[in-house]
Amino acid sequence: MTDCLFCKIVAGEIPCDKVYEDDDFLAFHDINPKAPVHVLLIPKFHLPTLADADEEDSAMLGSMMNTVRKVAEDLKLDVGYRLVINVREGGGQEVFHIHVHILGGKKLPF
Ligand code: 5GP
Ligand code: ZN
Repeated sequence: MTDCLFCKIVAGEIPCDKVYEDDDFLAFHDINPKAPVHVLLIPKFHLPTLADADEEDSAMLGSMMNTVRKVAEDLKLDVGYRLVINVREGGGQEVFHIHVHILGGKKLPF
């Protein structure tokens, strides 16, 4: 997806403040953090939204949650953290490459 911001970050065409990378996923600090720790975890392949996933994406989605846990451990978010997945315009999604927001670093308000 040549026009996708997060694909460009995966390709190294746009820099990011990386916190984790493996063959399938990349995690980096959000450019406009909403909490003391605000990291985005993305798969390296382009899937626009969770609503576009299907049964064949089950393994990737499960693996994404396991990767969230690893990243949260690396970031020492031991007291806890919040995950947000915005889905399509109505859910507030602005970048159409599926991603999980990992928020923490303080007691988060509801
Ligand atoms: P969404 O609203 O799509 O769920 O979240 C997109 C997130 O990407 C926003 O929190 C926004 O701050 C972040 N973001 C947008 N552009 C960039 C960028 O170029 N670099 C980084 N690191 N984050 C970005
Ligand atoms: Zn993409």
